[in-house]
Amino acid sequence: MKRCAECSLPMVLGRDQQWHGNGLITTSKDEKFRMVVLEVELVRSILAGMRGMLGDYTDNLVMHGKRKYVRRYVDGLLSGPLGLLVRSRLGTRKVYENLVSTGATLGYGYIEIMDYERKKGITGLVKNCYAEPLFAGDVSGAFESVERVLTNCSWETEGDASTFIVTTEEREDEMKERMEYEPPKELPSTRTLERCSGCGVPTGMARYKWIEKQGIILDSITNTRVCIMGLNDLNAIFHEVENAVGDEINTVVYKVSKEFAMDIYKGVKKEELDNVFDLWALHGLGNVVEHSEKHLKMDNPYNPDLIRGRVEGLYSALMGKDIIADQKLNEGVIEFTMGGA
Ligand SMILES: [Zn+2]
Repeated sequence: MKRCAECSLPMVLGRDQQWHGNGLITTSKDEKFRMVVLEVELVRSILAGMRGMLGDYTDNLVMHGKRKYVRRYVDGLLSGPLGLLVRSRLGTRKVYENLVSTGATLGYGYIEIMDYERKKGITGLVKNCYAEPLFAGDVSGAFESVERVLTNCSWETEGDASTFIVTTEEREDEMKERMEYEPPKELPSTRTLERCSGCGVPTGMARYKWIEKQGIILDSITNTRVCIMGLNDLNAIFHEVENAVGDEINTVVYKVSKEFAMDIYKGVKKEELDNVFDLWALHGLGNVVEHSEKHLKMDNPYNPDLIRGRVEGLYSALMGKDIIADQKLNEGVIEFTMGGA
């Protein structure tokens, strides 16, 4: 992994992603493709909450939703002459090696390719996998983009290692018309980000340590593991589950997020709030533009239910009692008025 000489973050981080002053991270190739830094424990808790509602069907839904978006993401990476080259007989192995290193950069785990047969399938071993159904979508979506086939993926986990087996499958793509999601309107930048002169990534990101041998990203201050993932795919998965079971899913997302926030912000002090909101913007969660004891306004919120949970959890931790907020969502702005429970 090539590192920046100034801040020692991986060079690909600033090459593949752009941080904006409006609380957004986007991919460098496509400014509509929003990325987000999320705590791995939160992601896993949300999936567990969904599984509690939908049973094993959840994994299938999550995997296929992620597959569709990853296929589109890799299609973008491999557009034009580069695509012709990597899809040739000579290029494919190399492209998987590159994708493996992209996966490690995003904190998905330590990945090894065990077996590969052109247009037939791929088997990978992942240590410290961030979330198995999501990774199954990552690997099958990437394989589909490179090989121009449709796939299925199964996996087995033993201890901290998971084996993923992707096989080609002749079928109609059930996700072709599904999982569509239009991101809301985007509000402009109000923040000036101090950036590293070497790689251009905001200096605030230097708190994260990339531990290459384990494929994980750790917050060196709180010791929390994070990963970087596409926002639209996660939102599309939430929408798809909403279509299947109704808006109960939003309650699950909100509740899990609130509980998680109450825990991580335990003992937070008023004078630390600006730092918290700086970090939210850096994570691509959105841009807090106003806040007081009773009120908070955020531009470009990442999924509203998740943000509501995080805001209520933070304020509950701050006030030392359960806070329930009134929420107003309008044209890319979310506003909360705090009340007691
Ligand atoms: Zn740097």
